[in-house]
Amino acid sequence: MTRLLLIGPPGAGKGTQAVRLADAYGIPAISTGDIFRSNVKNGTELGKQAKAFIDAGDNVPDSLTNALIRDRLAQDDAKDGFLLDGYPRTIDQVRELDEFLASRETALDAVVEITADIDEVVARLGKRALEQGRSDDTEQVVRHRLDVYREQTAPLVDVYSERKVLVKVDGIGDIDEVTERITAGLASRGIGPRDAA
Ligand code: AMP
Repeated sequence: MTRLLLIGPPGAGKGTQAVRLADAYGIPAISTGDIFRSNVKNGTELGKQAKAFIDAGDNVPDSLTNALIRDRLAQDDAKDGFLLDGYPRTIDQVRELDEFLASRETALDAVVEITADIDEVVARLGKRALEQGRSDDTEQVVRHRLDVYREQTAPLVDVYSERKVLVKVDGIGDIDEVTERITAGLASRGIGPRDAA
């Protein structure tokens, strides 16, 4: 019954950590970016509407994103817990998620902020561009995505900090080390992996 969010700039390692944490805590990792990319790849109506925003490094409009996440969270596997990676990204999305959780009489257990400095994330995404060929990993688009993060998403960290659910973790270091920092941060709030339950 663990409900978690991962917040951090592009290239902080959210996707990598999400997969590991989902496995450890026995909850589905839900990445809005992955869902959008698979819709683009499959040529769905949603994919057609989202593609230009993704390629430009802009956020997809809240109306589309909120509808998508409502559907996804309503699925059976997310009933008892989930790990959201890349959602919410705007204050409007926070409001939407709050309403959704309130309607189910549940709440978030913790919000994990993964931090990384700009030079590090630009370098990491440059490497990923070569490996994965993501259309939005070119240096120019990466810099824009970082601006969008700073303007629209970074303020969410203060919101969750005021709610006393924030766990802040340094995302620089090797992957295992960062995972350990996150699990230690969650453990200090009484949130343990499924085997420890
Ligand atoms: P990500 O995989 O999280 O880096 O997301 C890749 C792209 O998908 C973003 O740059 C946005 O264009 C879009 N996207 C993903 N999640 C959201 C969201 N919560 N709100 C708006 N756009 C999103």
